[in-house]
Amino acid sequence: MGTAAAGAAALGAVAGASSLVPHVAAVPSVVDARQLEGAGEGKGASPVPKPAQAIPSNWDYSADVVVVGYGFAGQAAAITAANNGASVVILEKQARNNHTANSQMCLGAFVSPTNVSEAYTFMQKLSRINLDTPESQDMADDVIMAWATSMSENKAWLASLGVAGFGSYAAAGRFPNIPGNGAIASYEMKKPDGTTGVGLDLFNFLDGIIEGNNQTKILWATPATHLIQNTENGAILGVNAGTTGLNIKANKAVILTCGGYEYNDEMLKTFTCFYPIVFYGNPDNTGDGVRMGQEVGAAMSHMTIYGGGLKARFKSFPTGFLLAQNPTCGYIFVDKTGNRFADENSLGGYSGYWNAVYDNVTYDTLQRIPCYWIFDSAQMKAGPLAYTSFAAAGPIGMYTWSPDNSAELANGWILQGADIPTLVGAINQTQSDPVLTSQPWTVDVTLDPNVVSAAVSTYNAACAAKVDGQFGRSANTLVPISKPPYYAVILWPGMNNTYGGPLRNGLSQVIGTNGSPIPRLYSAGELGSVYVHYPQGGANVGECLAFGRIAGANAAALTSWS
Ligand SMILES: Cc1cc2nc3c(=O)[nH]c(=O)nc-3n(C[C@H](O)[C@H](O)[C@H](O)COP(=O)(O)OP(=O)(O)OC[C@H]3O[C@@H](n4cnc5c(N)ncnc54)[C@H](O)[C@@H]3O)c2cc1C
Repeated sequence: MGTAAAGAAALGAVAGASSLVPHVAAVPSVVDARQLEGAGEGKGASPVPKPAQAIPSNWDYSADVVVVGYGFAGQAAAITAANNGASVVILEKQARNNHTANSQMCLGAFVSPTNVSEAYTFMQKLSRINLDTPESQDMADDVIMAWATSMSENKAWLASLGVAGFGSYAAAGRFPNIPGNGAIASYEMKKPDGTTGVGLDLFNFLDGIIEGNNQTKILWATPATHLIQNTENGAILGVNAGTTGLNIKANKAVILTCGGYEYNDEMLKTFTCFYPIVFYGNPDNTGDGVRMGQEVGAAMSHMTIYGGGLKARFKSFPTGFLLAQNPTCGYIFVDKTGNRFADENSLGGYSGYWNAVYDNVTYDTLQRIPCYWIFDSAQMKAGPLAYTSFAAAGPIGMYTWSPDNSAELANGWILQGADIPTLVGAINQTQSDPVLTSQPWTVDVTLDPNVVSAAVSTYNAACAAKVDGQFGRSANTLVPISKPPYYAVILWPGMNNTYGGPLRNGLSQVIGTNGSPIPRLYSAGELGSVYVHYPQGGANVGECLAFGRIAGANAAALTSWS
């Protein structure tokens, strides 16, 4: 999204900074491995499969710590590294005026457990792929302990930086039967005026601290492209960045915090077992950290982990939307057979997508991709279908959703029919026609209007009886679909973010395929997230803050390699 010109302009600003040295003296093209001894390389440095990038003879810019990606993880790493005396350069792919990190788009809830040992106990079990099989634990004990310890300091850390106060997002985790669940508290920041802040508010607060530190510089519109690695001992010496191939030297370490692969279609096809899949965050999270990590021999973790429910995606817009089903209005979801397939209220949260993806009877088709949200004019009149407090239609300002949904109806995102068969005709026409469709993907299926009409009739009868005999939806949400015209939005399995990326240990070091840390390389945030099961809303942001601090402190503590 950024431009090379903007990147060059941003870099120009660095030239004035005393300890962020542009155009440093040339260094030997092969760095003496002995220089690196005792400076973070440690024992058992990873063998390097191939040089990712030749060591430059000239560096364009240098700092002690180079942070790749400016979200919460990058912010926590940069603040902590700077507080530990390091000069810091942050490379951000997007331009300042076009910056839409997941951290800026999110609700801003963050987990901060109330008790370290209970959090440790909880996460020991939650880190199992199969909760009932101890052997399936997929997070090392040192990572679990680091998680429990550092996460528990999140709230106090933000308070120490000057956050005015906190409100409770959740008093406990989402797994009441797992010991320690009661310690998994989640919070939201309070703004100075006492109102609750969202992700953008927390991001701007931390941004103010970073902008006020003259030892830290942000290079906007400057994507990292490759890690620069010493081929003799595997140490990461810097980063190649920007369209002009800038060489950014990291005297101490590089910290990868550049988010997941939500918008890398090839990675999604490779790592997910279904398709299409919608995300509703930053379109520039394209798996660059996965690729850069692979180039220098990083092991990968949690590439197939996701969490989410159902979301909408429209062809003319770069990211997805979280839409709100107003429970006081009638609505159902039907699958490609035209039938309801679940209690609609069970399809939210972090594991709702399992229900949304898989058909319980046959496995030869992804029968619920997409599915169709059917509702009546009461829902249309009840306000914007999209959440406007956060995400794309929130304060980040990526999109202004019309208060009465009229603009989204006009551009074909919302489909309309005077009766259900006419509505189904509109769905069939738009989803199958590559020109007409408002969706990024066509669907080679024709919904049967009679089946959908019957599904609506059966549902309306359940509303009259106040009992949903099909799926047990709670009686107080059984409101008939009876006020024409009728509407539909096509929905897809929709996730918050990916969790895969380079494997890290409890020191936030990136681990190589041989099981040893890659010297001078750290990571934090959703790129290589620790989660297998998602503990509670706020766990991602909490992890960004916790492992960002760990990475920043450990990187700053290294001895410079030159
Ligand atoms: C709408 C929404 C709501 C959410 N709500 C919550 C919530 O309330 N609580 C919670 O815990 N989690 C929530 N999540 C998840 C959470 O927001 C993210 O997992 C978290 O913010 C990720 O932070 P990060 O720093 O790892 O990545 P990001 O915040 O995405 O930052 C990564 C940055 O790296 C940049 N980048 C990418 N490639 C490069 C490159 N090659 N070079 C340089 N820069 C690069 C990107 O442009 C981006 O600015 C939500 C997610 C979404 C989408």
